[in-house]
Amino acid sequence: MLLVASGVTKTYRTGDEAVRVLDGVDLTLAAGESLALTGESGSGKSTLLHLVAGLDSPDTGRLVVDGTDMARATDAQRAALRRDGVGLVFQQFNLIPSLDIAANLAFQARLAGRYDAAWASELAQILGLEALLQRYPEQLSGGQQQRVAIGRALAARPRLVLADEPTGNLDETTGDAVMALLLRLVAQTGAGLLMVTHSPRLAARLDRRVHLSAGRLQLEPVA
Ligand code: ADP
Ligand code: MG
Repeated sequence: MLLVASGVTKTYRTGDEAVRVLDGVDLTLAAGESLALTGESGSGKSTLLHLVAGLDSPDTGRLVVDGTDMARATDAQRAALRRDGVGLVFQQFNLIPSLDIAANLAFQARLAGRYDAAWASELAQILGLEALLQRYPEQLSGGQQQRVAIGRALAARPRLVLADEPTGNLDETTGDAVMALLLRLVAQTGAGLLMVTHSPRLAARLDRRVHLSAGRLQLEPVA
């Protein structure tokens, strides 16, 4: 299993108020599988994704990501997993403004020591970015920027791709095209995909769907 979550809980405290956002989440994702995570705004989708990415820790429960038990791993091991094993795509494209597109695309893979020029140029070609490599992020449209962010996430050939509403800032047509590219690249590399989305239509394109509500996951009712 690429990802196993069991009994994961997370409570946020602000002042003297405590909100239990995740209340015993169980989840598995196999290698090569794609899973859509849906749920209302504020239901804890991003929180769960952040825990899986090792950006934050659960209060209780077990989280094993690509064979690494997150609670037992050192900070360095978690950082290595994020760098080498996991690709992250967010709603905000988060490109580095001072780097051109070629350097943005290569950034993650270089950090991981896994830059592969042939794969980088194949990615640029698949993502339709070849003519844009010398430009800077501010000179690209939203859809183009998100294609760069997807390329950056896939450049180190991560075993797990985590995407948090990756088309949330794009219009529907552009979002659909970006989504198709993401799914194509995930399939081509054999990565597992956990994607947060508001859209039942996009969720339907993934292998499985789970719904987060009142801190727990439910299998999406079959329509
Ligand atoms: P979603 O991604 O499903 O919209 P989030 O995981 O972002 O939901 O947030 C779930 C709930 O936790 C929300 O009520 C949000 O306000 C709260 N929350 C998220 N992050 C924090 C934080 N760092 N501190 C306090 N509350 C937070
Ligand atoms: Mg969110």
